[in-house]
Amino acid sequence: TAEFSGKRVTVAGLGVSGVSAARALAGLGASVTVVDGGDSEALRERAASLETAGITVRLGDAHTLPEGTGLVVTSPGWRPDSPLFAAAAEAGVDVVGDVEIAWRLRGPDAAPWLAVTGTNGKTTTVQMLASILKAAGLRTAAVGNIGTPIIDVVLGDEPHDVLAVELSSYQLHWAPSLRAHSAAVLNLAPDHLDWHGSMRAYAADKGRIYEGNTIACVYNVEDPRTERLVEQADVEEGCRAIGFTLGAPGPSMLGVVEGLLVDRAFVENRQQQAQELAEVSDVHPPAPHNIANALAAAALARAFGVDARAVRDGLRAFRPDAHRIAHVADVDGVAYVDDSKATNTHAAQASLAAYESIVWIAGGLAKGATFDDLVASAAKRLRGAVLIGADRALIREALARHAPDVPVVDLDRTDTGAMAEAVREAARLAGPGDTVLMAPACASMDMFTNYNERGEAFAEAVRALTAGRGTDA
Ligand code: ADP
Repeated sequence: TAEFSGKRVTVAGLGVSGVSAARALAGLGASVTVVDGGDSEALRERAASLETAGITVRLGDAHTLPEGTGLVVTSPGWRPDSPLFAAAAEAGVDVVGDVEIAWRLRGPDAAPWLAVTGTNGKTTTVQMLASILKAAGLRTAAVGNIGTPIIDVVLGDEPHDVLAVELSSYQLHWAPSLRAHSAAVLNLAPDHLDWHGSMRAYAADKGRIYEGNTIACVYNVEDPRTERLVEQADVEEGCRAIGFTLGAPGPSMLGVVEGLLVDRAFVENRQQQAQELAEVSDVHPPAPHNIANALAAAALARAFGVDARAVRDGLRAFRPDAHRIAHVADVDGVAYVDDSKATNTHAAQASLAAYESIVWIAGGLAKGATFDDLVASAAKRLRGAVLIGADRALIREALARHAPDVPVVDLDRTDTGAMAEAVREAARLAGPGDTVLMAPACASMDMFTNYNERGEAFAEAVRALTAGRGTDA
């Protein structure tokens, strides 16, 4: 911690992680300036509360590096090509993220980190992992890109035996010295390419999670790109590559055999070939992508020495967060499902694959993605589509190419009220036995504050449909 005392630190971004980093570093004796390009009432209020703690805040200028800066701590959303970082590079000043700061601040007896990244399933997997670790009687917390800022957990008073850490590609990009006990990359599909610049750069940032692992690098057998990242990583001697698969596992893998999750990597009894962990029905919901998440969580827990029974108990106790393939209601024989968290094509593909006859509500901010593969893979199951949001033309064009017979309603709206109209249009297209699935394959920020608000708007619109008819679920 002496490293930060008296140092001039510039924190980029006055969001949750920026505030946490600023307070922590000021508490360690650093001289902290927070910069943010915005200048709203809310930001000014937040600034005022930091200034009482002796922190300088500069609003309305995200470009110039404050005089004398010795280190820049960035918030995850800031793009690597931001002018502030160019100025830092010119001045020979390091740029790191809050995860890097947390890693450097952890004490000598700090809890090891079990880390998870991937394009989709990170939050779910980290929560499953924390549930398993708790079932094993370990003191743990799910941290990182989820809930409490990681610096606050590392500096907090509560003792931990092990941490379940969710890491985004952004956070990995800015955390050069992080070394996990064990780590998993769940899957890799194009996302955030506008931020990273290319698929190769995105994969390289995700792959950083394996660097220096001591016990296990967990990869997805069905996604060879993840295994390639393990091969490229520089790990500690004795660190093992552990695969997970929805099929029967080979040696050093976890997988599925006759409705059971089984472990062939960490068998408890040397006479045994495989260790039974849990039943597929212990996983909620037991959709294929979610069983993959459960296997990844189990692999990390097993790498930490957790026994089979705790894996089962932890999975049984786990329930997914809201807006992840959540059944909202049945109306006139049509199921309405909220998968607002499907903010990219890879996630939407997982939920579109889970239903047979779908009226699909999609659209929002595409973040540089293309929609041809997604639409082609789902075309046979689409009964109709309703498009909303800024980049809906990209989806409309993909539908015209790969699903020309599917009726499409293109709502030329990006206001918050568009969701209610979208739900009414979807109800008109759907028949008994169909599923109206809101899995937008896009980010929500063109119309909503975040995916939560988008999911709430959907649920509210469905409730408005049910007012007076149908049955609530
Ligand atoms: P993240 O934290 O990576 O955004 P979440 O657990 O919040 O992941 O899930 C995000 C979305 O991805 C949800 O819509 C969910 O249905 C979908 N999803 C979850 N796990 C997977 C997976 N392993 N593969 C593909 N899609 C997934």
